[in-house]
Amino acid sequence: MAHNVILLGAPGSGKGTQAAKLVEAFGLSHISTGELLRAEMAKESELGERVSDTMQQGRLVDDQTVLELLVANCDLASKQYIFDGFPRNLDQAKMLDDQVVKDFPTTALYLEIDLEKLTKRLINRRSCSSCGEIYNLLSTPPQKTNSCDKCGGDLQQRKDDTESVVKNRMEVFTSTIDPLVKYYDERGILKRVVADDHPDQVFAAVEKLLG
Ligand code: ADP
Ligand code: ZN
Repeated sequence: MAHNVILLGAPGSGKGTQAAKLVEAFGLSHISTGELLRAEMAKESELGERVSDTMQQGRLVDDQTVLELLVANCDLASKQYIFDGFPRNLDQAKMLDDQVVKDFPTTALYLEIDLEKLTKRLINRRSCSSCGEIYNLLSTPPQKTNSCDKCGGDLQQRKDDTESVVKNRMEVFTSTIDPLVKYYDERGILKRVVADDHPDQVFAAVEKLLG
């Protein structure tokens, strides 16, 4: 598959999980602006310190900062990417087109999901602190409480997966997604997939669309 993929979907729609499957099946490189930002915070870099309040409140970091981080971490001439968490608004979509993706072939994949189910899903999300594997206490729980099936690492909850912050993130999402979907639809590169089902079923649909 000679395509970059732009993943669109609400927080908790399963972007991270589907991205991991895409990496495995198609050899794409995964780039998540949320992860890049959290890594900067963990390093306590100047950028990390600057964005930490914004992120902990579930608001958007300024476009230019995120774009710079993205540009510094990808090279489209030699790899194909899954963009996860970028763009978040129309300005970012245009920046991505003009400054990153340019003429490289790209598909925008929209994971559509019932927003009411999402809050529940997010609050129950845990990830492995050492290998990053994602679990859901309701639908895909680990075999042993609080311990990763793959590596035995401790499971942790993201700071912004608490109920009140999740509400904020949902509001940010619903107020920005429509113009983005329209933008990619008009360019003829939008594909929609129903993301309510089990991750494996969702991926089967994704594979059919992209394969
Ligand atoms: P989710 O999609 O589950 O909300 P992410 O890991 O993509 O989580 O993002 C977490 C936080 O990082 C966001 O709430 C926001 O503060 C910041 N962030 C990530 N990507 C962007 C972006 N493209 N523009 C602005 N802020 C971003
Ligand atoms: Zn693990």
